[in-house]
Order: sequence, then structure tokens, then C-alpha cells
Amino acid sequence: MMPALVRYDRSREDLVQRSIEARGLCSRPVLAAMRKVRRELYVPEELREFAYEDSPLPIGEGQTISQPYIVALMLEAARLEGGERVLEIGTGCGYSAAVAAEIASEVYTIERLPVLARRAEHLLWRQGYRNVHVRHGDGTLGWPDAAPFDAILVTAAGPRVPQALRNQLAVGGTLVIPVSGPAGRQRLKRVTRRTETDYVEELLADVVFVPLIGAEGWRDDMPARSA
Ligand code: SAM
Repeated sequence: MMPALVRYDRSREDLVQRSIEARGLCSRPVLAAMRKVRRELYVPEELREFAYEDSPLPIGEGQTISQPYIVALMLEAARLEGGERVLEIGTGCGYSAAVAAEIASEVYTIERLPVLARRAEHLLWRQGYRNVHVRHGDGTLGWPDAAPFDAILVTAAGPRVPQALRNQLAVGGTLVIPVSGPAGRQRLKRVTRRTETDYVEELLADVVFVPLIGAEGWRDDMPARSA
């Protein structure tokens, strides 16, 4: 029988080729990072056999690990090339922070649920990431003392782009966020800060994320949605 590690490595390569490259994503640093990070370590043990399906999976506390294609899409959309300072809102299990940390120089990531924040922090440390900083709190307010950021990635869907996150984006920087539209439809939006006062917005794709809950997000009594 093939050892589990080899089996996972093959499945990961297969996933990158079939679900990410074949769908048109082509950023070299993002593809290399997706090939490197072992997603099976970030999902609950009983779900490891599904780690390389291109789908979200439950991680506890009613939350999910994002679909790998969406993680790659957001990082490519954020134009990560290497050396950036990145802010992530919604650490979850820490998987997308790990992928970002393979490319960026520093990753600051905020999670509102303390159990998930603690678990992700331990896991990322054990995996050797010394450039990831995890904080428990409301990410809609950003991380002002570490700003500005070259890229901001929000992995939960809010009603609008939080003003605090716009303010904490460096000039030339990129913010990628799912925003809920009419009838609950969610669209992935890219906001590029061109100058101190000029922001350009583009819609990238239809997506499904869990709600962004906080001062500049939804209230705490929102029903959980999908991924
Ligand atoms: N980044 C994760 C991964 O690696 O797959 C996926 C995270 S999951 C789709 C979204 C996360 O956002 C959940 O863990 C949820 O608790 C968190 N979240 C929701 N609102 C938040 C907020 N205001 N600040 C920080 N985290 C928030």
C-alpha cells in the first residue's frame, strides 16, 4: 500500500493541475504555494481523506476551510508576488494564511472565534511559520498598528467593504473581499487603492462564503450559510 504522505502529495498535485491550473489560474508563486502547503493537516482528522477535493469542509464552530480553487483565486487576484505585508480577515483553521505566508513576507490574520484563533496559531507555529501573526478579534476593524498592508484578503462575506480595511490598504495595494448583494448573492470584489483618495473596484466572480460578523459586517444573529 502507498504511504499516506505520498498519496496526499499525489492528490495535491492532481488538485492543483485539475482544479486550479485547468481553470485558468496561472500565478507562479500562488501555484507553487498551493503545491507546497499540506491541506490535510488543516482539516479535522476524520475528514483528511477529503482534503484534496476541491470543496470547503467543516472545521468546527460552524465554520469551514475554504475551497482550494477560491484560496488560489483570491491570492492571484491580490497580485501576491513575494515580499508583501498581508492582512487576512477570517483565519479559520489557518490554511489560507499558510499559503499566503509561503509567498508574502509577513501575514497578519484575525479570527473572531477564540477557539479557532488559538488552534490555528498553534498549528501554524508547529508547521514552522514564523511570519504569521494571529490575533483574536473583529477583523472588520483591521489591524491598525500593523497597517498599511500591500494586500488584504477577507474570507467571509459582509454587506459592504469595511471602511477601516480601505484605510489600512497601502497605496498601490489590493483588497479582495466577498460582498453580499441583493437576494443574498455574493460577489468577490477587488478594490485597488490607486492614490490616497482613489479606489478602483472590480467584480471577479460569484462565490459562497460564511458571514463576516462584526462592527462593519453582519450582526451576530445571522444564520450560517455555506462555505
Ligand atoms: N481562511 C480560512 C481557510 O484557511 O480556509 C477560511 C475561513 S472561513 C471561510 C471564514 C472565517 O471568518 C471563519 O472562521 C469565521 O469565524 C471568520 N470571521 C467571520 N467574521 C469575522 C470577523 N469580523 N473577524 C474575523 N474573523 C471573522
